[in-house]
Amino acid sequence: MVREQIEARGIRATAVLDAMRTVPRHKFVEEALALQAYDDRPQPIGYGQTISQPYIVARMSELLEISPGMKVLEIGTGSGYQAAVLAAMGAEVYTVERVRELYFATRERLMDLRYFRVKCKLDDGTLGWQEEAPFDRIIVTAGGPEVPLPLLEQMGDPARLIIPVGSQRKMQQLVLIKKQDGRFTRTRMEEVVFVDLVGQHGW
Ligand code: SAH
Repeated sequence: MVREQIEARGIRATAVLDAMRTVPRHKFVEEALALQAYDDRPQPIGYGQTISQPYIVARMSELLEISPGMKVLEIGTGSGYQAAVLAAMGAEVYTVERVRELYFATRERLMDLRYFRVKCKLDDGTLGWQEEAPFDRIIVTAGGPEVPLPLLEQMGDPARLIIPVGSQRKMQQLVLIKKQDGRFTRTRMEEVVFVDLVGQHGW
């Protein structure tokens, strides 16, 4: 998976490649899907949700430029796979999920797999995680029409935020926001397809 899907498409950051070699993706899907877990596409995780394609997980992890010890907020815990990859890169991960069943199942999975560096919360993630702010990095793994304002407010300085943004459902672009010395810059990256960010500041 790493060689054919990720390195072959130009991801070079060794921290990302190493993390993606370590995290057992098949443990983040139902047992019946374990054999196809490493295929070059998203995987269903129930409740109409999906884990992103391996390349997209790698690409977003690369754009975040994680260093060990950074405090990272993830919106959209889902299966916990992206959170586990960030934890394997040395991040302290705070992840928020709005679907109760996914929250409980994934919290247990992450404990079973010994990802103790990941803290989970059941809430509307478009509000961020105020008590734990500021964050060095923020990653949103569901797509909405705009960047939720509370997330911008919870960025540290310097900080980075990556989010799929689109004015229409299922048509999004990855947007990278950098904050430095109080100033924000916004860069549009590749087109992507994510499930909807549902909440007060989403759809
Ligand atoms: N990062 C996940 C993929 C998640 S799919 C993984 O690695 O498996 C997107 C997730 O975002 C879904 O689980 C969905 O329920 C969740 N979601 C959507 N809107 C949300 C919101 N406002 N707050 C928190 N989670 C949200």
